[in-house]
Amino acid sequence: MAGEPQDDCLFCKIVAGHVPATIVRETETTVAFRDINPQAPTHVLVIPKAHYANAAELAAADPALTADVLRETETVADEDKLESYRIVFNTGVGAGQTVFHAHAHVLGGRGMHWPPG
Ligand code: 5GP
Ligand code: ZN
Repeated sequence: MAGEPQDDCLFCKIVAGHVPATIVRETETTVAFRDINPQAPTHVLVIPKAHYANAAELAAADPALTADVLRETETVADEDKLESYRIVFNTGVGAGQTVFHAHAHVLGGRGMHWPPG
């Protein structure tokens, strides 16, 4: 069923506490943890606790939960005192998505360029 935990999903395992992660924030509906392979001084992943394969599925299924995730990205940036930062939802293999549980990357603490390539 939509939103239910998936046995083979790494981020569902982090939500359940079965895989360790450096958790920076947790709410009733979301978890934020540091990326294991950081691409910037701040690189935090914000995920819904419910399982959706990507941001598009999350947004279509649960707009309120999508807003929770976005609000948490803002709070993470605030707590790390980031004046400028980037929020990224890689959606689909061609965009670089490797974990198929919706997640927002919060990247900051260094200069960034656009387009990202
Ligand atoms: P994607 O490429 O799907 O947008 O992002 C997945 C992210 O998850 C990558 O940046 C990757 O470094 C991170 N990641 C993969 N495995 C783990 C893990 O076990 N723990 C943590 N904290 N991050 C992970
Ligand atoms: Zn999952």
